[in-house]
Amino acid sequence: MVVRTIEETLKVQAGTFVGGGTDLMPLLKNHARNDKNLVFLNRMEELKGIRKETDYLYLGAGETLYDLSVHPLVQKLAPAIAQAAGMTASPQIRNIATLGGNIMQDRRCIYFNQSQFWRKGLERCFKTGGNICHQIPNSPVCRAIYYSDVATALLAYEAEVECVENKIRSWIPVQKLVHRHSQVNGLACDCHLPLLVVRFRVPLPAEGEQSVFNKYAMRSTIDFPLINFALRVGGDRPARAVAGAVAPEPVLLEETGKLLDAGSDTNTVTAACEEELNRLALPIREACIPPAMKRMLYQQFRELLDVRAKNRM
Ligand SMILES: Cc1cc2nc3c(=O)[nH]c(=O)nc-3n(C[C@H](O)[C@H](O)[C@H](O)COP(=O)(O)OP(=O)(O)OC[C@H]3O[C@@H](n4cnc5c(N)ncnc54)[C@H](O)[C@@H]3O)c2cc1C
Repeated sequence: MVVRTIEETLKVQAGTFVGGGTDLMPLLKNHARNDKNLVFLNRMEELKGIRKETDYLYLGAGETLYDLSVHPLVQKLAPAIAQAAGMTASPQIRNIATLGGNIMQDRRCIYFNQSQFWRKGLERCFKTGGNICHQIPNSPVCRAIYYSDVATALLAYEAEVECVENKIRSWIPVQKLVHRHSQVNGLACDCHLPLLVVRFRVPLPAEGEQSVFNKYAMRSTIDFPLINFALRVGGDRPARAVAGAVAPEPVLLEETGKLLDAGSDTNTVTAACEEELNRLALPIREACIPPAMKRMLYQQFRELLDVRAKNRM
């Protein structure tokens, strides 16, 4: 069904929300998910809008990735978000994929994102109702990777998200939403959180704050990230560095952030980033690369620091 107001969605919370459908529809087609009661959000005005108000930049969950990537306010006040949205997937997908759908996208794995016929040859994994992770057979949980590019950028800004859950509307850190989403999304019986994402808010940058996003993929368009990074430094908050596509949720690089605040040189910061990722990332086999190759990409954080140097970040 199509809903137009939040009140209407409250009556159908048992359903599955559809933003642009670019993530959900292929999963339904492959019977990787079997959601029955689809609730289309594309007519809901309350999920639209990009506005600057008092202390925050507000981003509607129904805004498309394309609109985010080209909007002057996003480019000026939260450039890492505009860059992440603009580097996601392909132009066709960015034209219909929504911000809410990007954050709530399913985690992916080469054993899960397959046709039903292909999967039949294997025992069911955690994500398809079984008790095993084919990637890491002794893992007690699903190890599929969360690939959202925009989530990495939102986390660098310590953004918050407004959700409606159990008929209650509240603001929570995006990091908390992504953590909960990631945990539930590894279980076939309950693969999505029963909540509506309404909008996001990003604190306005203080004087001197700079931020940047970058990603590495097999091709410059359409491919999911092999790794992505977002960095925010300067202004009146401690620096924040985040890496994505390396685990079931983005990884906060706390030591790296502290070294950035201390003004450490590029080699020291890059080494710290690599050490933190070796400790915290959980790489798995992907379509084109083994975990060992992904680990070689941890050093790419250096390129963000080069951008920082160039822009005097
Ligand atoms: C070929 C290809 C390449 C891709 N490459 C990348 C990439 O490089 N980087 C990247 O980050 N992503 C990539 N993606 C994923 C893509 O970004 C997502 O498909 C897209 O952002 C999902 O947005 P959507 O609005 O279409 O979500 P939908 O498919 O509509 O929904 C996705 C999930 O979010 C839930 N949902 C949607 N809106 C809401 C809401 N408002 N509240 C609560 N739940 C909601 C749905 O129920 C569903 O579970 C790629 C996808 C494809 C097909």
